[in-house]
Amino acid sequence: MRRYNKQFLGNTEKKEVHDLDNEKTGPNQCQINEIIIAGHAKSFEPDTLDQAHREGYDNCAYCIGSSKR
Ligand SMILES: [Zn+2]
Repeated sequence: MRRYNKQFLGNTEKKEVHDLDNEKTGPNQCQINEIIIAGHAKSFEPDTLDQAHREGYDNCAYCIGSSKR
């Protein structure tokens, strides 16, 4: 159910990365729609968690976990 043609989506405002294959849709969870609507969505090239980390993004606590902050 990807609305986005990528697995990982970064929130440029919070510098957090989400795994869209494991998106959590509860209140105050991933809020992917809100990120996209606000224009804060970013994809990674290559589309990997490692790349997101290299760019300074932290894991979302809901869909990835193990936040490093
Ligand atoms: Zn998330």
